Amino acid sequence: MSLSNAVVRTNFSNEMRTLWSYWDTMHNFFNLGPMGALFSNARLRERFIREALTRVINFMPPPTVTLDNQMARTLHGEFSCYRWVVKINSYSMNNTGYGEFIELATTIYHELRHAEQFYRIAQGLSCNQLEFPDLSEDNRLERTFDATQNNNALSAVQRGQQIFGAAPTPHVLSAQQIARLMYMPRRIATRATQNAANDFQNFITAARPGWCRQATILDAVKDWMNFTYKKSNQQPYMASNRDDNGDDIVRTAGGDTNRYLIYRSDAMEKDAFGIETFFKPHLETNIGVNAATHPLIGRPHPLFNHLPS
Ligand SMILES: [Zn+2]
Repeated sequence: MSLSNAVVRTNFSNEMRTLWSYWDTMHNFFNLGPMGALFSNARLRERFIREALTRVINFMPPPTVTLDNQMARTLHGEFSCYRWVVKINSYSMNNTGYGEFIELATTIYHELRHAEQFYRIAQGLSCNQLEFPDLSEDNRLERTFDATQNNNALSAVQRGQQIFGAAPTPHVLSAQQIARLMYMPRRIATRATQNAANDFQNFITAARPGWCRQATILDAVKDWMNFTYKKSNQQPYMASNRDDNGDDIVRTAGGDTNRYLIYRSDAMEKDAFGIETFFKPHLETNIGVNAATHPLIGRPHPLFNHLPS
């Protein structure tokens, strides 16, 4: 399963259809009774989204959802690999317009895709289908030793052969190493290493999405990784905590001497915007109203009378 799979899209689209159906009456969805209307709709919407992710996302750990009231209004959400969190603009959660809602739902799918991108990189590293960029020889040595039972007994010559030799020992990255290299929570990396070979193989051999610009899905994952983690692609720290697109920061790098932030790569963004074109029209059809034609109508509009409330 994957966010680029039609079943997952349909499941999330159905969840978002339900969310819009009860957008102004969330207490009805949660069966909160006569006093339910006292609950904040925005908080109940947040709760709905959080629970919806756990219902729909079972092929990776679902990110936590948090609200942020400091984000610019043009930003709907962002994803942090470091914290495994999708942040949603609290402004979007308080909106009343249909167009804004469609943008919110589409943004969540976009941010979830970022989570999947990092998750696939971790899986690919775990099953040796990817080579992490710019690893120092020390790190290569460490990786080699990790896969070697008797590494303490190796002579200097043997160590040299393992680094430079023609037939290096296959190396396996541990969950801990993946978490450290990727600035990813340990529990996420641990989950990614479970059944990684099977899951990653299924992912890269699935039908290539129409928006995928690379020749193969494996090439796409390599681009996500290389354009994000290659040291030459590191960009200077920006006080705004935003990249050039005003979009999300992935993580702060560990180096104390040169303070860098790693930004999500352009390759990741192209794929995440690509998956929006896969999701958004499906959701609008599912709800039955076109957002471009009716961006400002609210949930009470008669066009939505067919929805439960
Ligand atoms: Zn993005």
